[in-house]
Order: sequence, then structure tokens, then C-alpha cells
Amino acid sequence: SGRDPHETEFHQAVTEVVGSVKLVLDKNPEYRHARIVERMVEPERIIQFRVPWVDDQGRVQVNRGFRVEMNSAIGPYKGGLRFHPSVNLSILKFLAFEQVFKNALTTLPMGGAKGGADFDPKGKSDNEVMRFCQSFMSELFRHLGADRDVPAGDIGVGGREIGYMFGMYKKLKNEFTGMLTGKSLNWGGSLIRPEATGYGSVYFAQEMLTTRHQTLKDKICLVSGSGNVAQYTTEKIIQLGGNVVTLSDSTGYIYDEKGIDLDKLVYVKYLKNLKRGRIREYAEKYPEAVYMEFDPAADHSPLWNHRADCAFPSATQNEINELDARNLVNNGVQVVCEGANMPTTLEGIDIFLDHKILFAPGKAANAGGVAVSGLEMAQNAMRIKWNSQEVEERLRKIMQHIHRECLVASEEYGTPGNYVNGANIAGFVKVAEAMMDQGVV
Ligand code: NDP
Repeated sequence: SGRDPHETEFHQAVTEVVGSVKLVLDKNPEYRHARIVERMVEPERIIQFRVPWVDDQGRVQVNRGFRVEMNSAIGPYKGGLRFHPSVNLSILKFLAFEQVFKNALTTLPMGGAKGGADFDPKGKSDNEVMRFCQSFMSELFRHLGADRDVPAGDIGVGGREIGYMFGMYKKLKNEFTGMLTGKSLNWGGSLIRPEATGYGSVYFAQEMLTTRHQTLKDKICLVSGSGNVAQYTTEKIIQLGGNVVTLSDSTGYIYDEKGIDLDKLVYVKYLKNLKRGRIREYAEKYPEAVYMEFDPAADHSPLWNHRADCAFPSATQNEINELDARNLVNNGVQVVCEGANMPTTLEGIDIFLDHKILFAPGKAANAGGVAVSGLEMAQNAMRIKWNSQEVEERLRKIMQHIHRECLVASEEYGTPGNYVNGANIAGFVKVAEAMMDQGVV
């Protein structure tokens, strides 16, 4: 724990997992002897590189690119790329670490990685984004491959960016392989991949509610973010009869008491995916909604302070702190399902667990995205394409399976219903067993 003390997000993610797997280490001293935890927290490889590009004014810009290849015990490295000005090694190491356990939970053969750059796509033209993606891939390509490392999207990386990066990779390598997922449908992408993380998160919430003989019908839901995960979380909640009343971006949030219906969601998709505008514009189009700007100095987020049954944080890390968690509990929330990675602080998680909230940690609840990425890899390898019903049915079964695995592990280790312990333990054991089999490497 003395190493890299400034990497606060990474330490936070490790603290959470180590807290859970202590129970496993006590039962299995051979893991301690083989120093499995010490090996897991040290990335197998980190690649860091310069990304120079020329903006529309002809000025040279320089960004920093990364790939953290954390663990390949159960398969080729797999995990998204994030383009956001906040990107640094601590954030990417936390994301790569979480990814290792998440990928293990999906049952598919994928190791864990994460990467990206401190590039800010906001306000950039298509041509600037293209030139950036090409420069980024002109270095990263030598580390990738369908059997080596297969990145995907994350914050700031969607279909457009994946397309530009794939084009550059193909040119440099002179081969067409499935070395990126999240590709467009007409050149190797999988149906349901864009929907997968959000849909999967809602399926997970549905499974948790079933343990208390409830459904999502008529439940009031708070969703944060308005990007890929938030949009498809909202879509699936609406399909299952729930009522979504909030969405946000990094500047503020909207509260629509009447609920966001499928027509309004079409507008949100246009606004965020095509127009690349701000969520504020939702309240301009639908006057029944109110918009509130976030105050960066505030000690809590007003988004989490509305009467609701369920919360789906789907924007970014640490968006629910201790005070937000208290507000959610006081407002009657029964379900908190993490679509984003690590949106809840350690103190916030303790409050949810103390109050017996149905709390799904991101590495379980948002695993649907990487699961369908795994299915995209399988379809690419077989050179076939499944229809959307087939992929969605596989996604639903995988989410049900992950839910059951977490529940069983939480019971086996004496903390029934604690999905945090369940997810950490189930993921850890699978990777630890593979590392034991493969020796000290
Ligand atoms: P997008 O880029 O599509 O959307 C991100 C959303 O979150 C935007 O609304 C963005 O607002 C907001 N946001 C980003 N950074 C911040 C910040 N620092 N503070 C407040 N709001 C912020 O990303 P995704 O929807 O793909 O990702 C959302 C979360 O889900 C991330 O934690 C990601 O790691 C996780 N995730 C994503 C998966 C996927 O398949 N895409 C899979 C598993 C997890 P703005 O428009 O202002 O930038």
C-alpha cells in the first residue's frame, strides 16, 4: 500500500477488493503463499506514449496516451479506451483492475486492461477527432491483436472513434481482424453492443428486485449521465415499466417529474450523439423539466436528492459520496445499480450496505458491455453474425448468471446479499485459480 500513494482512485478500487477477499485468503492460505494479491495489483505491462496531432488552426497539439495491461490469466487483454482530460495512470489502473474481475464474472475468456488519453473531444471537429484517433493508433497498434489485446469504447470513445482507430490499424497492419470491439454493424460489429451495458445493468437490477418479490414496474428511477450507458439504461427501464426522472452531463442535470418517455429519449440520443450538445437543452425543449447547473464547490449532488425507488449512476467515478448516499437512503431508494465504474465512494458503499439497500457494484452490474464485446469477438472469430434476439437473450442469461454467482459467493462467505463481496470474491477466485495453474510468471 506504500507504493504510488498519489494514485487515489487505484487505491480506492484495491481497498474495496482486498476488503472482500480477506475472507477468501483466510480460507485458502495457498493464495497468500503464492502472493496472488501482490501480483494482481501490479500491472503486467503499462504502455505510455506521445500522441501528437494537428488541430484545425494548424497548431500542433500533444496528448498523452496509455494502455494498462493488467492481467491476462484467463484470456487476451480486454477493456475500453477513455478519452477525457481527467485521464491519468491512477484512473486507468483502477479501471483496468476492476476490469480483470468484471471480465472473469462474464464467464467469457478475457483478461483485463484499460487505456485512453487525456484528450478532450468536447468542441473538437470530426476531422480533429479523426487525426487524433489516427495518431493514437499509430503507436498503440503494435501492442494490439485479436489474440493479444482488444480495446473497446468508454467515456469519450464511441462508434465514431472506434471507426477511425480501426481504419488506421487496418492500414498499418494490412489485415482485417477483430482487434477492437464496438465496431459498426456493417464491418464486424455486434448487434446489441451499443445497448449492452445499459440493458445489462437494468437486467441486473431486475434480478436483485426479484429476490424481494418486486419488479421495476412504476418504480421512480434516478439516472445520471446522458451518454451511452445512461441512454440505454433509460430505454430498458422504460420498456420494463419504470419511470426515469433525471439525466445529467458534466455541467448539470435535468429533473423531469413526468418522466422521460421513449420520444423524449429519441431527442436525448440526437442531442448527445449527433448534435453533441448539452443536457441543458432538454429543459429548453421540454419546459416541464427543470435544469440545474452543478456547483463544483457543493458537498453533495442535488441529482441524488429526489424521492425515488432506484438509482442508476451511469456517468463517472465517485459521483455518489457519503452525503449523497445518505440523501438517497432518506429519499426511499431501495436499489442502487452502478452502470458507471466505481461511481460510489467507499463511505457511500458502507451506508448502502448498512441500510440493506440492494447495491450492485459496477464490476457486476455493468459487465453486460464487455460481455457483448466478448460475443462480438466470438462472432468475428467464427465470421458469422447473430441476430439481435440471439445476442440480447445471451446478454440476459449472462446477467442472470452473474447475479446468481455474486449471490452464491456472498452466502458462501457469510455475508448473504452483499453483492460487493460476492462480485469481488467470485471474480477473484476465478483469476487466482488460473494464476495458480500457470505458475509464477
Ligand atoms: P459516454 O462518454 O458515452 O458518456 C459519459 C457521460 O458521463 C456523459 O453524459 C458525460 O457528460 C458524463 N461525464 C463524464 N465525465 C464526467 C465527469 N467527470 N463528471 C460528470 N459527468 C461526467 O460514456 P459511457 O456512457 O460509455 O460511460 C459512462 C460510465 O460507464 C463510465 O464510468 C464508464 O467507465 C462506464 N462503463 C461504460 C461501458 C460501455 O460499454 N460504454 C461499459 C462499462 C462501464 P459530458 O457529456 O458533459 O462529458
